[in-house]
Amino acid sequence: MARIFFIDVTNRDGVQTANLGLSKLEKTMINMYLNDMGVFQSEFGFPTTRHESFYLQANLELADMGVLQPIRLGGWVRAVATDVERAFQFVPNIRHLNISVSTSDQMIEGKFQGKKSREDIVNMMIDAVEAARAHRAESIGVNAEDASRTEIDFLIRFALAAKEHGAHRLRYCDTLGYDNPFTIYESVRALAENVEMPIEIHCHGDLGMAVATSLAGAKGAIDGGQDVYINTTINGIGERAGNADLTATVLAVTKSKEFAEKYQLAMPLDLTKVWKVSRFTSYAFRVPIPINQPGVGANAFAHSSGIHADGVLKDPENYELYSFDELGRGEPELVETGREICSGEYSGISGFKHIMGRMAMSFDDARQGEEILELIRYANVEAQKPLVEDELLFIAKYPKIARKLLTLIPPETLS
Ligand SMILES: [Zn+2]
Repeated sequence: MARIFFIDVTNRDGVQTANLGLSKLEKTMINMYLNDMGVFQSEFGFPTTRHESFYLQANLELADMGVLQPIRLGGWVRAVATDVERAFQFVPNIRHLNISVSTSDQMIEGKFQGKKSREDIVNMMIDAVEAARAHRAESIGVNAEDASRTEIDFLIRFALAAKEHGAHRLRYCDTLGYDNPFTIYESVRALAENVEMPIEIHCHGDLGMAVATSLAGAKGAIDGGQDVYINTTINGIGERAGNADLTATVLAVTKSKEFAEKYQLAMPLDLTKVWKVSRFTSYAFRVPIPINQPGVGANAFAHSSGIHADGVLKDPENYELYSFDELGRGEPELVETGREICSGEYSGISGFKHIMGRMAMSFDDARQGEEILELIRYANVEAQKPLVEDELLFIAKYPKIARKLLTLIPPETLS
């Protein structure tokens, strides 16, 4: 029986969202949290973008060190052979790629303005896949951007060509959130049956259905006999109305009526990490979690009306589908209401010792402490907000990696 995997794209779709961004350290922390949760793959960035190079290399080093294991780190590139070449030039140790091209007539005509035909699109994709294979990429996903507005016969032809040339998965992108659960089921099932290749489902929320379409798409792939890789972002942050929210989608797959009996996860996910990863991402993006967000919203387990409160006190299952502690909630949290010493780009040694001492961190000698403090200052320059405890601990534990993450040197000439 085919199974369900999760690929989180917060560090790619999330950061390309208008008005939002993450520091390289924040992106790294997200990869760490996703790994702790058991997510199969993180789409961790853009290997052709110069300012990502050190960050991507540093994260691949963490993978080699066994820190970012077993999660896979995948890069996103345009389906252009020269971009694939550049990806391996800037990030030589990258092993997993998703290569992307628009497939709908709307995009082919609207974006390429008559300069490219459907045949050109297929050929571009083939050249890019071949280039990735020549560099011994371990996994290659081919993204059909705007798949939901692409004629299904052409989409099948495109996917068959990708498979024939050695791609491992097809990403079905509902780029505009145009699909509904019924249409995506039919399209993805047709793809699975005709192409016989694992399928990624990438859904957006422009019509408020990203989680529902992800679930229906997953069902379509599995009913068609293929493994499915659902794309999500933490807190649903992504282009425009956002992507399928990681927490809500995992809950939908594992808790919704009758679904989990037939459609199963390929690997266990540790839901108790959800609270922490969601809160960190909200802080990092500076985007509050909506009060009614599934699982992690302030009201997700709040009851006030008489009948509900009485019912949930007698038996939580009366009014709750899952419990708060399954999601890592319920621990008391310390909020400083008096004097606060936090990290900043102009922090000094005394405040720094106070912060690290609070976390029971000590250093071998004064020089080592100074080195860590300097890295923390630099991290603050990029983040422009106090670092959280996990970030401080990360820097103290992996100073060499942190130095790399914080290195931003614009190239003298563009190649
Ligand atoms: Zn997207």
